[in-house]
Amino acid sequence: MRMLHEIAPHKYNNCYGAKRPPVPKDVALYYDGSMVMMKNHSDSRGCFTFEQLEPQAMQEAEYIFSIDDTAYYLLENAPQQEGLEMYPISSCRELCGTTAFAFVTGWQFYRFRKEHKFCSCCATPLERHATDRAYQCPNCGFVCYPKFSPAILALVTDGDRCMLVRSRRFSSSLSPVAGFVEVGESFEEAVMREVLEEAGIKVKDVRYIASQPWSYGDTIMIGFTAKLDGSDKLCAQQSELLDAGWYHRSELEDNRFRDSLGGQLVQWFKEGKL
Ligand SMILES: [Zn+2]
Repeated sequence: MRMLHEIAPHKYNNCYGAKRPPVPKDVALYYDGSMVMMKNHSDSRGCFTFEQLEPQAMQEAEYIFSIDDTAYYLLENAPQQEGLEMYPISSCRELCGTTAFAFVTGWQFYRFRKEHKFCSCCATPLERHATDRAYQCPNCGFVCYPKFSPAILALVTDGDRCMLVRSRRFSSSLSPVAGFVEVGESFEEAVMREVLEEAGIKVKDVRYIASQPWSYGDTIMIGFTAKLDGSDKLCAQQSELLDAGWYHRSELEDNRFRDSLGGQLVQWFKEGKL
């Protein structure tokens, strides 16, 4: 299983200079809150193209990115064609490849547009920026770009065992410690702080492993390993966690959430790669 953003040999192109008017084979994306519209054909869900829509849909479409030679656009109004249905955005994780990645990434741009209708300095309605993927205020010149927050993942190891937590929000899986990077600290300092806060232990030798864009939460996940430094006695942070524990490689099951970097870190440790 690959992570959500790993779509090779296909290539994601987020260069806004690639913006062009849509052609019939391009993909249209429509969202409403946490729902996404998909083509539902013979039990196979997926993206739909402008070929399937009324011609005026191409005029209102807003370019967001390309994958290979196909451009992807946001629609403002819901298409009424048959065979298109709304599904929870969370169900995109059941799809695979470029389809899942495009739906989830498009959702981040949809929410960026929806949440930036007015200037936060002077309350004037914002307009689309002429050259950048941004919105700007025609009154005061304020420009806002898509925002996302860095969040660390910390897989704490001690020889052949690792420390995993079960969060209150995602109680169905064991995961590394996760948390947002705060203003004024480095990623490594965030790892040490979060592990101490959530599990009550100290770590050293913080080592970068990989990163992953995670559009579901407007975050960029940065994954690290860190070695236990001192006592292994855990004290789980009650407000965030159900529990925290030490697990030997041999007792870990195949991680079900390997489309996420958190799941992959656990899987790589189980397989002896970390
Ligand atoms: Zn303004």
